[in-house]
Amino acid sequence: MRASRFFISTLKEAPSDAEIVSHKLMLRAGMIKRLGSGIYTYMPMGLRIIRKVENIIREEMNRAGAIELLMPVVQPAELWQETGRWDKMGPELMRVKDRHGRDFAIQPTSEEVITDVVRNDIKSYRQLPINFYHIQTKFRDERRPRFGLMRGREFTMKDAYSFDRDVAGMQRSYQIMYDAYVRIFERFGLQFRAVAADNGAIGGSGSHEFHVIADTGEDALVYSPESDYAANMEAAEAVAPATPRAAPSQPLTRTPTPGKAKCEAVAELLNLPLQQTVKSIVLAVDSEEAGTQVWLLMLRGDHDLNEVKAAKVPGLANYRFATESEIVEHFGTRPGYLGPIGTKKPVRVVADRTVAAMSDFVCGANEEDFHFTGANWGRDLPEPEVADLRNVVAGDPSPDGRGRLAIQRGIEVGHVFQLGTRYSEDMQATYLDETGKPQLMQMGCYGIGVTRILGAAIEQNFDDKGIIWPAAIAPFQVVLCPMGYDRSEMVRTETDRLYDALIAAGVDVILDDRGERPGVMFADWELIGVPHRVVIGERGLKEGKLEYQGRRDAAATAVAVAEMPAFVR
Ligand code: ATP
Ligand code: MG
Ligand code: MG
Ligand code: MG
Repeated sequence: MRASRFFISTLKEAPSDAEIVSHKLMLRAGMIKRLGSGIYTYMPMGLRIIRKVENIIREEMNRAGAIELLMPVVQPAELWQETGRWDKMGPELMRVKDRHGRDFAIQPTSEEVITDVVRNDIKSYRQLPINFYHIQTKFRDERRPRFGLMRGREFTMKDAYSFDRDVAGMQRSYQIMYDAYVRIFERFGLQFRAVAADNGAIGGSGSHEFHVIADTGEDALVYSPESDYAANMEAAEAVAPATPRAAPSQPLTRTPTPGKAKCEAVAELLNLPLQQTVKSIVLAVDSEEAGTQVWLLMLRGDHDLNEVKAAKVPGLANYRFATESEIVEHFGTRPGYLGPIGTKKPVRVVADRTVAAMSDFVCGANEEDFHFTGANWGRDLPEPEVADLRNVVAGDPSPDGRGRLAIQRGIEVGHVFQLGTRYSEDMQATYLDETGKPQLMQMGCYGIGVTRILGAAIEQNFDDKGIIWPAAIAPFQVVLCPMGYDRSEMVRTETDRLYDALIAAGVDVILDDRGERPGVMFADWELIGVPHRVVIGERGLKEGKLEYQGRRDAAATAVAVAEMPAFVR
């Protein structure tokens, strides 16, 4: 590819609504353009990456014996009514009517359609097992689309669906997909972890999530460094022993605002609806040495901690937000509980020497127009009323008895699930067994967030200059930057020669023939994140050398002209 015939459009600054690094960098590198909330045009530079991600997935799915088809984006409501999901899905399911007033769903996933295909076309046990997949546009009307491709409303997913005769077969199909996912994420060149996504009651887990490890991830992953135990926080908490809990040592003082006002201010800044249940608790730590303030802000509703962290809290000048697990890490202790304050369930807060020494927390506001002061707690507190609260923090013993648990954050990029007869029963997807008796099919489903992979890869691989793509999914593997392509015969000849040699060797190379100044050229390609850069200049050529610099290298290396094609591969 020649840059002059491609479309490159970079920005110095990211638009102000971009909050996390991957979103900013993708906008700056001209990979995506926002059309509406959670809806993006994949620009040529971004589409190249998406295609590479898709190709790796496709190769590994085919290798694992899955068969590609393509199911419609627009799906009749009747199918969704058969499984009850037309009503159950709520507002996340995008619904449209045709000119006759008939209802349709824009697919957020395709269990119904594939089950319909299979119940009509698969008759005999001889046709099983079978696994169909497609790579298709999805639409989910997410409550808070955010972070660019990370949580879009329109996005691309690979979804696969296996059908088996019995549970053992379903588990085999599941394992095949699990192994394929491991290969896929290894080929992407990303650091990832597969975690159990349900409580794994009685032997084995029926579901795993694949997470790209990144501090900005929305999910907490719990694992033991000394065994292969790994689960997402919900699954880990489901099997954790009930935690001895602490309640406030003295009654809280119920006070009219400003606790609520503060919470509301946060919620308002974040554009979050205040709801009736407390779910997120955030500790804001004012980091000014003198006069350290610690405020406990309880936000009502299912708030996103990344959004919360990005908020400005009036009255706190110099602070950072800590998530609960960060707080635990920071203070080296597990949270206790602050007993019922306007909610039915106790909510978890930090009970710690350090924290307890600081008194008079403000907590609010889970009751209209009131907050509480005197939220001051320690270890000597009475047992609270609710018995089955569970929590998991770093340092807890691993449930498998091997080692102590560690916690890290991840971005969910894949999810595999044993569905059993959840859909085949409602939709009567049966096959005839050896004796001619109809049997329900055992089903599995397997998703990968194709477009989310881009965001996740960047969250894991960037520096102050821009993106650092793993080679397998980089938009281009190598960029050639000639110094004076238009002016110097020598530079042009050698650049073209190298370009042709790389193309012939199957290297995905782009030649920057735009005539930009070196500084502009370098800044663009560092921002875009091409892993290998070769600079071709007269001075080096006179000594038979080119300049090579890997995207993570601190300095360039001189490489002999003849050796360069082998060097960058
Ligand atoms: P999340 O927990 O992030 O909402 P999910 O569990 O609802 O995701 P699944 O139904 O498991 O998602 O879908 C399979 C995969 O599709 C997810 O693992 C994720 O990688 C991707 N995905 C889901 N929602 C989105 C979205 N809004 N934008 C981009 N990718 C998404
Ligand atoms: Mg979701
Ligand atoms: Mg999820
Ligand atoms: Mg999921």
